[in-house]
Order: sequence, then structure tokens, then C-alpha cells
Amino acid sequence: MDIRNIAIIAHVDHGKTTLVDQLLKQSGAFRENQHVAERAMDSNDLERERGITILAKCTSVVWNDIRINIIDTPGHADFGGEVERILSMVDGAIVLVDAAEGALPQTKFVVGKALARGLKPIVVINKVDRSDARPDEVHDEVFDLFAALGANDEQLDFPMLYASGRQGWADKTLEGARKDLSDLFSLVVEHVPAPGLDKTKPFAMIATILEYDNFLGRVLTGRIEQGKATMNMPVRVLRADGSTVETGRLTKLLSFRGLDRVPVDEAQAGDIIAVAGLSDATIPDTIAAMEVDQPLSAIPIDPPTLSMT
Ligand code: GDP
Repeated sequence: MDIRNIAIIAHVDHGKTTLVDQLLKQSGAFRENQHVAERAMDSNDLERERGITILAKCTSVVWNDIRINIIDTPGHADFGGEVERILSMVDGAIVLVDAAEGALPQTKFVVGKALARGLKPIVVINKVDRSDARPDEVHDEVFDLFAALGANDEQLDFPMLYASGRQGWADKTLEGARKDLSDLFSLVVEHVPAPGLDKTKPFAMIATILEYDNFLGRVLTGRIEQGKATMNMPVRVLRADGSTVETGRLTKLLSFRGLDRVPVDEAQAGDIIAVAGLSDATIPDTIAAMEVDQPLSAIPIDPPTLSMT
């Protein structure tokens, strides 16, 4: 299956959760399998009960037979390089902006990093149903913000949609048909390149997100950079200095479906997966097939920066 990996960047309250919920509802995955919605909710309740991550870091929707992995970015500056690591898994980004609030400086950090990585963001001016919406001004604000952050001409020529996540539509014009989110789905598929990764090399991924789960233990999420992961395969964990930290097996191999993580037998280059079964692996280690003896070029961890708004 074809894949697109995108980050979603938004200031808190600008409607990220509502929009992603609508993308889930309107995506093919739900039409193919109505139980997904129920299951996703169940797992959320379970997580709430267990007091762990409530919001999915990665949501996966299927549209026209293409899997779109949507990765959440922290809405603020961070100290550990998490933003860079997350952005290293994606080939595009949606910058979601409230049509009344405008481009708030808090998203500057993440947008700046996305532009510096050469990503060409899609801008969604959201909540245009608000009576105090000022979509045209906000469009100009976003342009000015991108320019101030050093965007190149191509990045400044960003595709843009007006939307109401709450009403479940996105459109190129304010006078548009206001039907559904199909324009946003198509824009993502057309504008964001597919991950161009080598499927024939031996398996390797970079551990990008580390979580602890009461049942699974250490869960490491990352994008498969090359090859294919299979359930239970023996793997080597390599640190950036080239040393082998441990060897073990992928006792759990999980792929994202909706808001849920489901066990799969195998996953291919470009997909974002979560693995368990390793006791020492951490971020940003390389998890790879036994024959791999070099870590993938690790993403440098930023030294703490104090000048952030
Ligand atoms: P998040 O913090 O970015 O995830 O934002 P939420 O999706 O939780 O939304 C924040 C608030 O904005 C909630 O009260 C939503 O009901 C409201 N909201 C979300 N989308 C829209 C929209 O399209 N139009 C309007 N008017 N309100 C919205």
C-alpha cells in the first residue's frame, strides 16, 4: 500500500483534535471496517483507565487505498530534539491555523524547524465558520510568518485550504461547496511525496518516540528507513557511536490503524511502526536486522535553547 507521512502543526485549541477526528470518520478505513471507530474508542478508554498516553501520537487513515500517517508535533519548543526527530519521519506537514486567532508565535519554533528541513507545508485556515473569522488576514499572517522564518519561494507558495473541522469540510475557496474533507485528502496525497525508501535492503529503523506501556514494556516508535520488519525477527540495536547495545527479537510489531495500534506480521520501508521486546533500546538508536552493522545517520539532539517564544 502507498504511504504518506505528514506532521500536523497547530497551536493548542486551533482544532487539531476535531479535524483529525473528522479525517478518521471520513476516511476509507472507517467505511471498510465500521468497527475501527468502536475499537479506537475502546482502546482510548482503556488507556485513560491505565493513565497513560491518551492522545495518539500517530493517527493513520486510509484514503483511496493510500495510508496517511498523521503525526502529532508538540505545540511548543522542546529541549530534547523531539520536534526534529518527529519531523525526520515525515515528508510533509499540515499547518493548522485558527481563522480568528491567527498565526500565534507559539507555533513558530515547530514551523521554523519544518521549513528548515525543506518540508513544503499545506496551510489549513480552520474554524472559518466562526463569526469573528478573518481568513484573508490570517492567510497574510501565515505568509509573513513563513517569510520571517526564512521560507524559500516554493515554501511561500504554499497550498491553502479554508476549513471548518467542526463542520467536517475543507475547500479552496470561501464560497466553495463545503462538502467534506476530500480536498484535504487529495491535497495531502498529491502534494506530499511518498517516502522514497529502499525496500530491498535489510531492515532498519530509527527509534524516534519512546513510551512505557504496562503490558508491553518499552515501546519504540519510528519509521522503517529500509527493508521490511517481520514479527519476531532477531534484531540488533545500534547506538550512534556504532556500538551494539543489545540484540533481541521484535516480540511485538504494531502498525497504526485509526487511533489504534494493531499487531501486524510485517511492515515495509516508509511505514511508521511501534515495536516491543527490547530492554535497553532508546532514542535515537537504530533497530536493525542482525546483518546491519552501522547505525543510520542519527538525528542530532539539539542543545537546550533558552530564547524561545
Ligand atoms: P486542539 O487543542 O487543537 O486539539 O483543538 P480541539 O479540536 O480540541 O478544539 C478546540 C476548541 O475549538 C473546541 O472547543 C472545539 O469545539 C473548537 N473547534 C474545533 N474546530 C472548530 C471549528 O471548525 N469551528 C469552530 N467554530 N470551533 C471549532
